[in-house]
Amino acid sequence: MSLYRRAVRHAWRMLAVLALSVLLVAVVDRFYGHSTLAFAAGIILLLIANAPMLRFNCQSCGKNAFFRGIFVVLWPNRICTRCGDDLDTQLTKIDGG
Ligand SMILES: [Zn+2]
Repeated sequence: MSLYRRAVRHAWRMLAVLALSVLLVAVVDRFYGHSTLAFAAGIILLLIANAPMLRFNCQSCGKNAFFRGIFVVLWPNRICTRCGDDLDTQLTKIDGG
């Protein structure tokens, strides 16, 4: 599986975790009247779930697929913004690429 495909899969997983966090906060707020702790738990959950993001790096130049310059975006680049490599054809190290 290419680097881009893996990164897209991660992006979808992050959206699912985000939905779960919002749901958690909404449900706790509904039943307990306050959601400060649930909100904190949601943030921590998102941070943990997003940790693998740092592994999606271009194998030619090492640039992260989720970075556009200094900004981090939700969706990965298909083409590396630094060296122009097609990340959809690059295999991850796990695949022996
Ligand atoms: Zn690159």
